[in-house]
Amino acid sequence: VRRNAGEDEFHQAVKEVFESLGAVIAKRPDYAEDGLIERICEPERQVIFRVPWTDDRGQVHINRGFRVEFSSALGPYKGGLRFHPSVYLGIIKFLGFEQVFKNALTGMPIGGAKGGSDFDPKGRSDAEIMRFCQSFMTELYRHLGEHTDVPAGDIGVGQREIGYMFGQYKRITNRYEAGVLTGKALAYGGSQVRTEATGYGSVFFVREMLRTRSADFDGKKVVVSGSGNVAIYTIEKIQELGGKVIACSDSDGYVVDEGGIDLALLKDIKERRRGRVADYAEALGSTATYVPQGCIWDVPCDIAMPSATQNELNGRDARVLVENGVMAVGEGANMPCTPDAMRIFTDAGVLFGPAKAVNAGGVATSALEMQQNASRDSWTFEATEERLASIMRGIHDRCSETAEEYGAPGNYVVGANIAGFIRVAEAMRALGVI
Ligand code: NDP
Repeated sequence: VRRNAGEDEFHQAVKEVFESLGAVIAKRPDYAEDGLIERICEPERQVIFRVPWTDDRGQVHINRGFRVEFSSALGPYKGGLRFHPSVYLGIIKFLGFEQVFKNALTGMPIGGAKGGSDFDPKGRSDAEIMRFCQSFMTELYRHLGEHTDVPAGDIGVGQREIGYMFGQYKRITNRYEAGVLTGKALAYGGSQVRTEATGYGSVFFVREMLRTRSADFDGKKVVVSGSGNVAIYTIEKIQELGGKVIACSDSDGYVVDEGGIDLALLKDIKERRRGRVADYAEALGSTATYVPQGCIWDVPCDIAMPSATQNELNGRDARVLVENGVMAVGEGANMPCTPDAMRIFTDAGVLFGPAKAVNAGGVATSALEMQQNASRDSWTFEATEERLASIMRGIHDRCSETAEEYGAPGNYVVGANIAGFIRVAEAMRALGVI
């Protein structure tokens, strides 16, 4: 505890995984030998660095940059970069730890990492974002490489930021190393479906869960929190499958639109104008209701997909959702449900898909982007989406079968934690004490 003092989110993430591992250690005590459990909790490398940059008025700002390279047992370190004022070591470590198991679950050859900065991109000009990204990469580049560590986006980091960082990497190293970052634009080595992948993948996973109860999205009322990359493409795929998304949010409030969210308008406001959910409600006038600072989980729905940030759905919210008859919850964001909330859903028999399984489609498609870069090839949208759908079916089935095998049928949390752990543990055992 002292070694990781004050890192609350990291403790929460580790505890959640450990709660599932009893059954597997009982069956395979060798997985607990050679300090394997201790090693899996200790990042292989943690880098913390200064990021100085100058704003448009000439004022100098100093932010803190992080890259936690957690595990390379299965492949090069892989995981996103987050730019948000709440970022500190504990957040990056929780995300990195989760990433190890998530990446293992995809079945692809990728290790786990996460990084970012406490930089707040909100309200910053394009030029400021570019200068920040260049300064950030000026330190980070020495730790990266297509065979070493391959970052992607996360909160506050999308295609624009990846572009600025790739430009700086290329400039410093004098290498056109397309596979060093994923989430690139199609214009220079990006993959079809990467932008949509986390949202689409989350919906594919929930579709598989619903199928186990002979249900689907058609006609269902869905609430999706957030209005960023994951939320937007979650909404898009749900609408394609006949579901009705009636609410979404940002950190200022939520909007309810009983007629169904107007996705074209939402995309225009969020992706082009970089506006707010309040602007969406204003543009629609009386059809939509904007609730500033409200709790989106008070909106009754059949399916809930928390897709904003960690610990955004607590025990109280879970009770309200259960009382309102929710049948499935899919975690699009990382660790959005508190341990209390997870327990309430599980006890109530709600289908509950944990983040490391549900949102793994993003990183899986990043791995497909790496494959395309390595072979200097690019695949069609349809072929890539089909790969994603089949990967998500595979993850669903692996979680479900593992849960069954270890005496917790229907419990996707146990299934995901154990299946991810076994794959990493097998590789670590083979590689010796390193
Ligand atoms: P974006 O930055 O595109 O969007 C984040 C959304 O969440 C925004 O609407 C934002 O609102 C809201 N949000 C962020 N922080 C908070 C907060 N503290 N309280 C309330 N709302 C908040 O990020 P992504 O969509 O990429 O990421 C969302 C989640 O999905 C994260 O947990 C991320 O780790 C996870 N994820 C993302 C993947 C990806 O491929 N992008 C892959 C796997 C997981 P506001 O604008 O007001 O800040």
